[in-house]
Amino acid sequence: MSATLITLSQRPAGGVDPSVDHGIQAIVAGTSAAETCTTELAAGPWDFDNRPGYGPGSSMGDVLPTGAPRQGELPAAYRAAGEEELHERIRAAKDVLGERVVVLGHFYQREEVVTHADYVGDSFQLANAALEHPDAEAIVFCGVHFMAETADLLSRPEQAVILPNLAAGCSMADMASIDEVEECWEQLEDVYGDLAAVDADGRVPVIPVTYMNSSAAIKGFVGRHGGIVCTSSNARTVLEWAFARGRRVLFFPDQHLGRNTAKAMGVPLAQMPMWNPRQPLGGSTNDELVEARVILWHGFCSVHRRFTVDQIDKARAEHPGVRVIVHPECPMAVVDAADEAGSTDYIRTAIAAATAPTTFAIGTEINLVQRLAAQHPQHEIFCLDPVVCPCSTMYRIHPGYLAWVLERLVAGEAVNRITVPADVAGPARVALERMLAARP
Ligand code: SF4
Repeated sequence: MSATLITLSQRPAGGVDPSVDHGIQAIVAGTSAAETCTTELAAGPWDFDNRPGYGPGSSMGDVLPTGAPRQGELPAAYRAAGEEELHERIRAAKDVLGERVVVLGHFYQREEVVTHADYVGDSFQLANAALEHPDAEAIVFCGVHFMAETADLLSRPEQAVILPNLAAGCSMADMASIDEVEECWEQLEDVYGDLAAVDADGRVPVIPVTYMNSSAAIKGFVGRHGGIVCTSSNARTVLEWAFARGRRVLFFPDQHLGRNTAKAMGVPLAQMPMWNPRQPLGGSTNDELVEARVILWHGFCSVHRRFTVDQIDKARAEHPGVRVIVHPECPMAVVDAADEAGSTDYIRTAIAAATAPTTFAIGTEINLVQRLAAQHPQHEIFCLDPVVCPCSTMYRIHPGYLAWVLERLVAGEAVNRITVPADVAGPARVALERMLAARP
């Protein structure tokens, strides 16, 4: 997996400013005519650490669960420091720490953080990158909470996995809590009977499949109940694995990835009822659940839900010949209207493989799109959504927090450590190992 990552030395310089933050600051200052979903994005994320909700960005309308991790106050010196000072402090701390630390940066992180990452990739690629550094004392994961948990599951117990801002969760992952999933499983037992009983074909009534974007507790649940984890790159392979072992699948938390993948495999929409955890039987009837092939959890990504068919129509009208590529977390109508749908890695690879100058309209998080535009000046690359609205939780990681956690490591202290309890980690690893072993 690491071959697809961009290392610091390989990152090309481009003519386009890859910094979304600079663009937002220009909008707020009135020097850019572009539009943002909220001018609060121009503030430091520390302004929101003690406020309720996900903070500014795509998830600002979502409800933060009670008890979600919060970040304590970032020391004033980091809040007051300018961009250049923070860059220097991060570089200096990394120089001192050397091989003792690995900094991982998700594709959706702001450029000011990604520029310090030793590896840039999606959540699973980054967890694997951490595996290549078994001697590092600390893995600083510039991403969101479930990603740091996955890195902890896959790294050695002595290694500290650090999330620079504990408020960097994921609104989609939060849409399936372990209590809700346990409750769903009990109700499905009432519908299907013994969930461990195999039929004449050796299949159980239902196999749970969780997207990588879920808590370790959910991965542990899946591991305990014969299920498996998937990514947006291998969802089809994983569903095939599950259908070989179960008559149907319970897919969570992202309804869109589940629906788009199952539809492409020929599963009729009528056999994909929704499970809304706030309604009895998820809001479906007993008959619908009996007929189901895939039960879709009522979760979604607020970043990818912003993309619409109207945006695609506009891109086609204004850019004849445009190639539209969207992420499979987008709604089905958007995926159907696009030319292609694929994971972040698919999108990156497709652009890198285009030999002739091409116009690309991309339906995924703006930080990745802007960086791709900077890296490939021979192409015209723009985000389908004209409104600048980054992921609320990725936004919470700022160079100020990165400088703070690195300087604390220099001082001998691992702050913001993410640790998955042993009773959860065991079955969660089983679910991940099933995914690694699943083959097309
Ligand atoms: S982009 Fe969507 S799925 Fe990814 S961290 Fe943000 S809210 Fe979660």
